[in-house]
Amino acid sequence: MLRYLLTAPVVLAGAQSLLAQPSRVSAPITDVRYEITADSAAVGKRQLGVSMSFHVNGTAPVVLAIPAWSPGHYVLIWFARRMSQLTPEQNGAPLAWKKLDFQTWEITPRSAGTVKVSFKYLADAVDRAVAWTAPNFAFFNGTNVFLYPVGRGFNWPAQVTVRTEPSWRIATGMDPAPGTNNFQASNYHDLTDHPFYVGRFGFDSTQIAGKWFRLAFYPAASLTPARRDRTFGWLRKIFTSHIAVFGEAPFRNYTVFQRSDTVVNGGGLEHQASQVDEVLTSQLDAGYLPGLYSHEGFHAWNVKRLRPADMVPYRYDDAQPTTWLWVSEGVTDYYGELGTIRGGITDSLAFFNGIGGFVAANAGAQGIAVSDASLSPWISPTDGSGGLYYPKGALIGFLLDIMIRDGSDNRSSLDHVMRTLYNNTYKRGRGFSSAEWWGEVGRAAGGKSFMEFARRYVDGREPLPVDSVMRLAGMQSRSDTLREPRLGISTASDSSGLTVTGVSPGGAASAAGIRVADRIVSLGDVAITGDDSFDTFRQKYNATALTTLPVVIVRGGQTITLQLPVRLLSRVVTVVTSIPGASEKAVRIRNGIMKGTTQ
Ligand SMILES: [Zn+2]
Repeated sequence: MLRYLLTAPVVLAGAQSLLAQPSRVSAPITDVRYEITADSAAVGKRQLGVSMSFHVNGTAPVVLAIPAWSPGHYVLIWFARRMSQLTPEQNGAPLAWKKLDFQTWEITPRSAGTVKVSFKYLADAVDRAVAWTAPNFAFFNGTNVFLYPVGRGFNWPAQVTVRTEPSWRIATGMDPAPGTNNFQASNYHDLTDHPFYVGRFGFDSTQIAGKWFRLAFYPAASLTPARRDRTFGWLRKIFTSHIAVFGEAPFRNYTVFQRSDTVVNGGGLEHQASQVDEVLTSQLDAGYLPGLYSHEGFHAWNVKRLRPADMVPYRYDDAQPTTWLWVSEGVTDYYGELGTIRGGITDSLAFFNGIGGFVAANAGAQGIAVSDASLSPWISPTDGSGGLYYPKGALIGFLLDIMIRDGSDNRSSLDHVMRTLYNNTYKRGRGFSSAEWWGEVGRAAGGKSFMEFARRYVDGREPLPVDSVMRLAGMQSRSDTLREPRLGISTASDSSGLTVTGVSPGGAASAAGIRVADRIVSLGDVAITGDDSFDTFRQKYNATALTTLPVVIVRGGQTITLQLPVRLLSRVVTVVTSIPGASEKAVRIRNGIMKGTTQ
């Protein structure tokens, strides 16, 4: 996953872990079929109609549950809270049932035969992991709607039928099944890892490396032919680079699902053969999009297939913590940068800036072990470790890449580690262990031990040896701390100016009474006409002695002046440059990283 806005994930207060609950086992069920109704009547009510049918051999209770989270989105969302009108029946007559906990139901069949369970699903969540609808459109994720029998494992096949308007289209990476709008999966993990778009949306496709790459985008007008061509051009370069790391494209086809709107939960969520991205309409031409596609695309290998053993297989009923998110997310972030520079979308300056961003984020969060930070997204920690596994993991990936290339005289690289672990663990049906990760890193570096590195810098809290390692690649960094006023808002711009799309609780804008949908006219003496105006504002008031500034907004056609508390926050800016006159070996290592080559 990658998120860009300051919006906090939804975590329900008081939600209790289920780990302490006794395990229950469902009677066996077979011939599992799901039906999703996403026609104009359903989406007009912001709902999906869901039904599940299956065969039972007798009257033993069937125990069904719905997931609490969606892999890649490491927070408990409790999809059951969006379900209503649960109705189990057999031959048209209702069956007895009871709720065992907030996401598990026990149903008692009257006889052997077919049981059908139906419910409504509220589909109005602006969240890449949760269903959302518009009058002509529906998005849903399998984890939202597909009930599973408890205690029966996940290796059972299922079929999905989508009921929709005849003129509406369906996009999913799930394998088609015979009949109209039918799809199938051989196990529950695959069943829940192929999101759906249903309705009126734009669709285009192209071939890259012998596979079909599809672009499904809503609204249909959001991607002009020029934007589509540009996106396919980026995907071609990015995926060619990623495929070169692993030696294969492990999906039948790949879909980029992209929704743009004035209110989004910005960023992306990865799946085994797709990514679901949400982009502000004002940022459809923003420079970060290739990096987003690259990060989410690399996940098709790293985490969707090559995964720490703690997360194999996935469980869906509760949190599944691992100390290895720094590899699953952080190293993916590093390859997000590599995919764009190796593909030729960005240049070395952009790559250096990307590394500088990792160094700066890390400098601002010293004294936190990245393996500890990896454990914690489930509780949205407030100690500064939240999401640290992204930049610190990326920086560690970069440093390991340099050390491997230095130790092997640039004959090996982090690419070799990723590929070897992919072949030796994922392809053998399991996750990787700590011993396997550090063993492969050491082997690739010419037989060097990394136990000390792991102990001090990954599981430990010592500052990373950034300068000494970067020097081996002929690179250096310099960090400066800026103090500047921050507002705590996100905005979207259009021809009429800048509109507030999000307000961080506790921020200066929140304290001033600024609300979503306000249009900002001026901050102090600075007229706000576009995103650049905020740079002017930050520079002008970075050393002000004022405690408040007037902020002029337009709300509901009325011009209002509010008082904004001035809050100066520190921001570390890091500039990465090449070292003039670096050794021939260091230059070879630096070029090898950016080109994806070894000797
Ligand atoms: Zn990610």
